[in-house]
Amino acid sequence: MLTMLRKAHVYAPEDLGVVDLLIADGRIAAIDSELPSLPKALSAQEFDLSGHLLIPGLIDAHVHVTGGGGEAGPETRVPPIALTHLTLAGVTSCVGVLGTDGTTRTVRDLVATTLGLRALGLSAWCYTGSYQIPPPTLTGSVRDDIVFIDPIIGLGELALSDHRSSQPTLDDLLRVASDAYVAGMIANKAGVVHCHMGSGERGFELLHKALDTAEIPPRVYHPTHINRERWLFDAAPKLARRGVCVDVTAFPDDGETMMAAEAIARWRKEGHSMERLTVSSDGAGCLPTFNADGRLIKMDVGRPNTLLEAIQGLIAEGEPLAEILPVFTTNVARQLALSQKGRIAVGADADLAALDPSGSLRHLWAMGTCMVQESKALQTGHFETS
Ligand code: ZN
Repeated sequence: MLTMLRKAHVYAPEDLGVVDLLIADGRIAAIDSELPSLPKALSAQEFDLSGHLLIPGLIDAHVHVTGGGGEAGPETRVPPIALTHLTLAGVTSCVGVLGTDGTTRTVRDLVATTLGLRALGLSAWCYTGSYQIPPPTLTGSVRDDIVFIDPIIGLGELALSDHRSSQPTLDDLLRVASDAYVAGMIANKAGVVHCHMGSGERGFELLHKALDTAEIPPRVYHPTHINRERWLFDAAPKLARRGVCVDVTAFPDDGETMMAAEAIARWRKEGHSMERLTVSSDGAGCLPTFNADGRLIKMDVGRPNTLLEAIQGLIAEGEPLAEILPVFTTNVARQLALSQKGRIAVGADADLAALDPSGSLRHLWAMGTCMVQESKALQTGHFETS
């Protein structure tokens, strides 16, 4: 139950310098420049983290935990994500989403898969709905899903400006946003609408109209994939200045798409609010390329490991870790109202990733349990083959 981490360089995300840290019962119990040795009878585990960076476990707010895809026939449905695809990627908290397919994929399956990840030691939540309007739900109503189903914290990923969307009108968007917002108040949850942004030239137009028209606060909207097109990324700061937190996707490198590291570095260098930016992986989602007829011509699969690759890229570029880490941790926790997550502080959940100086994962603790040691997974899902 007790774990002592010695001599780690802690980014909380702010730079705490080299300190010792004690984990007790899944929480961070103490942080100090030198903590005393514990009596042998307590049989605490001890790790020497000299030369390591210790950061909050990553929060991935967009993972197709049941598997996404299926956009070129049933054989293209992506399988459910494996626990170690998350833990070996430094992810200790995730939010599951349905995507294009809210027909063969259901919110019931999504909730069950989310609860399964929790049982395996991860912190996990999910959204009700899918790309569609009206959204598929578990109880028959968006409000009831958020209020009564523990892991459901909002609605998403609702597709906007995309050929696969339900082509929602402003009224459609406002109706579901108000349901999510009010349900969030009743349940003391985030109550967000996580919006999938497509490549359509309308871009953020509907979100601007929603802010112009209704009293729903900007924090309710959380548009993602903002770096899928360079012009969309360039339009995002205007939305952020209106109070909306926008989400970069850590796409795999295809040689064309703007990578997360570039997007985050540019955002910082251009002086936009670092508090209004988050990043997620689109893990286990299909990343398709369509032709003008809407036919799929190529596909890739999202991987949570692209988050760590983005951190590695940012470290290599000399970006200040304390300034870019909130995008992966604190900001996501704030946006999703996960008060115990995203920071290293006494009393917070012991979700911790130890990295080598280049940003490669060495060890991971989720709720105080060591999930990865010396870059090897200690815990696996029941049906994972190693
Ligand atoms: Zn999406």
